[in-house]
Amino acid sequence: MQPDHILLRFGELTLKGRNRSRFENQVVSHVQRILKGYPNASLSKTFGRVYIELNGEPYEPIKEGLKKVFGLSSFSPVLKCAVDLEEIQKVALSAMLSFSKEPKTFKVRVKRAYKAFPYVTQELNHLIGSYVLRQMKDLKVDVHHPEVELTVEIREEGTFVYSETVQGAKGLPVDSSGKSMLMLSGGIDSPVAGWYAMRRGIQIEAVHFHSYPYTSERAKQKVIDLTRILSEYTKEIKLHLVPFTEIQTRLKQMKNDNLLITLMRRAMFRITEKLAEKEQAMAIITGENLGQVASQTMPSLHVINKVTGIPVLRPLIMMEKQEIIRVAEEIGTYETSILPYEDCCTIFLPKSPSTNPNLRLVEKLEAGMDWMDEEIDRAVRDTEVMTITSDMKDEPELSDEFERLF
Ligand code: ATP
Ligand code: MG
Repeated sequence: MQPDHILLRFGELTLKGRNRSRFENQVVSHVQRILKGYPNASLSKTFGRVYIELNGEPYEPIKEGLKKVFGLSSFSPVLKCAVDLEEIQKVALSAMLSFSKEPKTFKVRVKRAYKAFPYVTQELNHLIGSYVLRQMKDLKVDVHHPEVELTVEIREEGTFVYSETVQGAKGLPVDSSGKSMLMLSGGIDSPVAGWYAMRRGIQIEAVHFHSYPYTSERAKQKVIDLTRILSEYTKEIKLHLVPFTEIQTRLKQMKNDNLLITLMRRAMFRITEKLAEKEQAMAIITGENLGQVASQTMPSLHVINKVTGIPVLRPLIMMEKQEIIRVAEEIGTYETSILPYEDCCTIFLPKSPSTNPNLRLVEKLEAGMDWMDEEIDRAVRDTEVMTITSDMKDEPELSDEFERLF
């Protein structure tokens, strides 16, 4: 069916009053950003119903964009016509004729919101259904398991005819829950964690640690690409690229190989916390998943977490790896995540990292690192910042840290 309108439905119906209209406005402004590329399409709101008038713009690409709008529970491509029986019958027929493979069974479901319309629901089901049946000889009615359920919504402002409901991304609209820093590696997990956070309305800024020249330009590009994919779900994402080579090299020289990962991850958290303070973010998000690797056992998480005072959100902590991969595929990050470029942790990975680090020992070791505070501050200072948006196809401009602050 080549629809002329798209009917939008919002999620989280429990929200009431002012919260609800703020919520709807945020969703609507995201939809408006998608429609920017389609100048003839417009958004209307009548009697509490929000829909897009396509005015000749193509449905398919807009549909792909809408699937990425958090706060939309579902939407339907519709044919709109007047509140007039003859017209409704014709439009219902053309909707039924539009399938590439002709359906064998169907059912009409009339929703009569406009009570002044002079036919009752049962009558309309029959009048529309029998009209279609007369024109399509092989079609039959099946009220229990129809191949096509043709919904006819009769409202004061017009009649909407549709047979398809596309599931939306659900969740809460972008930026409705404050800001957090996403620790984004090049792996499979952290982009998925970022997506889950955004789906709860969190505005994310990504933080990536690189060990150039041990890690390559391509590894950096991969993280930029992942950020760009995530930015399709929001307005834009700020990406902080932290130089981590110096700290990693110094930690490696401590010759305490089995605690190296613990020490590295504590340093990462300290830096991320400082960046969070600077950006007025309230939490840190990671892609950690219980038991996946040595640094993600309960004792490791405990020792690593001790270093920071702000909440650390771990959306994937209890998930199965297969489920994480499935979501990564669905949201479009998987193909990029599996590109084989080295990560700063893999390069410095010790042979037998501790799965049960001792907090007191770790704190004692750190107390002896008189260079640590200064290097942490330097890493924060030398962090490169980029603003990534989804329509950015080439390498974005690097903004100078200095310019960003003043
Ligand atoms: P991922 O698939 O996200 O890389 P992982 O299973 O490989 O996760 P680790 O490498 O132990 O696990 O990292 C755990 C979490 O720490 C990551 O999900 C990410 O949030 C953060 N992290 C790890 N390396 C980096 C990095 N180089 N830059 C930013 N964050 C990182
Ligand atoms: Mg990783």
